[in-house]
Amino acid sequence: MTLNSIPLATPELQIGDGARRNATMICAPVMAETAEQMLGQMRKAKELGADLVEIRIDYLKSFSPQQHLEVLIKQSPLPTIITYRPTWEGGQYDGDESRRQATLHQAMELGADYIDIELKVADKFFSSIQGKKPEKVKVIVSSHNYENTPSAEEIGNIAARIQATGADIVKIATTALDITDSARILQLIAHSQVPTIGLAMGERGLISRILCAKFGGFLTFGALESGIHSAPGQPTLRDLLDLYNFRQIGPDTKVHGVIGKPIGHSKSPHLYNPAFKKAAFNGIYLPLLVDNVANFLNTYSSPDFTGYSYTIPHKMAGLECCDEVDPIAKAIGAISCMIKKPSDGKLIGYNVDYLGAIAAIEEGLGGSSSASNGSVSPLAGRLFVVIGAGGAGKALAYGGKEKGARVVVANRTYEKAKDLARKIGGESMPLTELDDFHPEDGMILANATSVGMKPNTDATPISKKALSRYSLVFDAIYTPKWTTLLREAKETGAKVVFGTEMFLNQAFVQFEKFTGLPAPKDLIRETLARNT
Ligand code: NAP
Repeated sequence: MTLNSIPLATPELQIGDGARRNATMICAPVMAETAEQMLGQMRKAKELGADLVEIRIDYLKSFSPQQHLEVLIKQSPLPTIITYRPTWEGGQYDGDESRRQATLHQAMELGADYIDIELKVADKFFSSIQGKKPEKVKVIVSSHNYENTPSAEEIGNIAARIQATGADIVKIATTALDITDSARILQLIAHSQVPTIGLAMGERGLISRILCAKFGGFLTFGALESGIHSAPGQPTLRDLLDLYNFRQIGPDTKVHGVIGKPIGHSKSPHLYNPAFKKAAFNGIYLPLLVDNVANFLNTYSSPDFTGYSYTIPHKMAGLECCDEVDPIAKAIGAISCMIKKPSDGKLIGYNVDYLGAIAAIEEGLGGSSSASNGSVSPLAGRLFVVIGAGGAGKALAYGGKEKGARVVVANRTYEKAKDLARKIGGESMPLTELDDFHPEDGMILANATSVGMKPNTDATPISKKALSRYSLVFDAIYTPKWTTLLREAKETGAKVVFGTEMFLNQAFVQFEKFTGLPAPKDLIRETLARNT
C-alpha cells in the first residue's frame, strides 16, 4: 500500500476565517485531578488556539458525575468531548461498566458536544440509549491499538464495524512501529466517507497527527504542554500552530522533511517552516524518523511528497535510492538533499553540505564562488588542510578540489585520509603530524571532525602554536559557535569562519531547491541564532 494518488478528501471548510486552509480541528486533551484544574486547562486551551477540548473524566479523583459534569460542560469555553476511558482501553477508570455508561448518558443530557465510546461496548451503549440521543450530541466510536498498526484491510474492517454501530464519527488510534504505518492511517482518513479521526501513536506516527489536515481528518490532538500528553507522540498545541503552521495545511500542500534516526533533536523544522511561511510557499517540513529509507520513499510515493534533507545515518542509503545523483554527491558517496522532480517523479540527490562549507570559506576569504559569477574562486591555488575524512571531511575535500585548492587531508585513522586524498587527487598525513606541518604561510584550515563539539568543548584538533601558519580557520562544528579551535585561531590573528555559516549556506541552497524561490536569508539567520 502506498500513499500515491490518493483521492484527496475535500474538507467542508465551514470556517469563515480566511487564514485556515483545512477543516481539521485541534483538540486539547484536558487531564487533571480536580474539576477546577480542568477548567483552568480549558481556558488555557482556548487562549492557545484549540478548537475544542477532550475532557478526560477518568483522570478526576473523587468524581461526582452530577456535580462535576455540569460544571465542566457548562463552564467550558470551548466545545467538549467527554471521554471516560476505561483501563481496558488504555484509560484510568477501573470501576463498574454500567456506571461508566450511565455517566456518558448524563454527559449527553447535560449538553456535551461529543461523547466518546469504545468500539468494544458501542453496540450495548447504543441499544441502551434506544435512539434517545439529544440531536446536538455526536457520538465518537473509538478503537485503540497500543501494540501496532494493522494492515490496511484490517483497519478498513475496524472502520466498517465502527460505522455499523451508528457512530457519527469514527476514531482509530494505532501504534506506529515504522513511519510507513502512518500512511495506512492517512489512507483511511482520505478514503473515509464519514468524519474520521485517524492517528498513529508514537514518534514514528507524528506525520499522521499533522498531515491529517492535508487528507481531511476530523481532528488532531495538541497537548497543552510539552511532556503532558494523553497519548505518546502527541505534539503540543503550540508546535501544531506555530511550528507546523497547521491551519495553513491544505490538500495541495507539498510535504518535505529531514530523514534521520534519531531526529527529535533536529533544528531543521524550526528553520524551514517559518521560511516557507515567510515566502508564502505552500509547503510543510517535518522531522521524519525513518528506519528504512527505501521503504519510506516507496510508501510516500505521492507527487506531493517532494523534498527531503538527509542526516545521520541515512546519507548513504539516500544516495542508493536516487534515480539521478549530482557528480559531487556521487564522488562523496552521500547525499544531504533529495528532490522529487515534478515532471516524472524521479528522485534527484545532491550534497549541499559541500556547497554550504565551501561558500562559507569563500565568503571568509572575501570572494564568492566561480560557478555563480564566472570569476575564479579565492580558494584556487591555496593550500587547504582538511582535518577529518568522514562525511563533512569528504564534502570539504571534494569541494576544495573543485575550486582548485591544493588539498591535504589529515585524519586520526590515517588509512581513511590516504583513501580520500587518492580519490580527490590530493595529499594526506596522519593527524599526529599536523602540528609540525608548515610548508608555507597563509594556509587555510578546515576542521571536519567532532573534536571540540559539545560537551567536550575544551578539546581542539591542533595546537595553538601551529595555528599561526594559517590565515583562515573554519570549524564545521556549530555547537558551540566559538569552539576552542576558533578562539585560539582568532588569538593568533587568523580569520575565522563559523560552522553556523556552513549550516546556513546549505539551508539557503536547500530552501531554493525545495521551493524554487529565493531563500529569506535574514529570517533563516535569525531563526538559527534563536535555536542554537
Ligand atoms: P563522521 O562522518 O562521523 O566523521 C567524524 C570524523 O571525526 C572522522 O574523520 C573521525 O576520525 C573524526 N574524529 C572523531 N572523533 C575524533 C577524535 N577524538 N580525534 C580525532 N578525530 C576524531 O561525522 P561528520 O558527519 O563528518 O561530522 C563531523 C563534524 O562536522 C561534526 O562535529 C558535525 O557536527 C559537523 N558537521 C557540521 C555541519 C554544518 O552544517 N556545520 C554539517 C555536517 C557536519 P576517524 O576517521 O579516525 O574516526
